[in-house]
Amino acid sequence: MQKCKNCNTQFRWSTIYKSFWWGYKPIKCENCNAEHRIIVRGRIIFVSLTILPMLVFGFFLSPFDSAFATICVGTAILIIGSLFTPYLVKFRKADQSSYFN
Ligand SMILES: [Zn+2]
Repeated sequence: MQKCKNCNTQFRWSTIYKSFWWGYKPIKCENCNAEHRIIVRGRIIFVSLTILPMLVFGFFLSPFDSAFATICVGTAILIIGSLFTPYLVKFRKADQSSYFN
């Protein structure tokens, strides 16, 4: 999981997870206060583990006739996928010049 680029402190799972649901809010290191922002590739990883599988299921894979059942399972897929995202999505220090590394 992501560590602080400044002091190497490990970020908490919950801190990273919350950042996603607040519109990729920047996260702050608890130890040194350095601000970290999600990288562009991180947003793509997040979407491909959450919204993408949900849509694929909803439009192509759903065995249900009922829209309600499809939405319920689709939402479950989104939530389960999102639980793994803090391990995979990378952040950069806010003052780093490149947005893409
Ligand atoms: Zn730090």
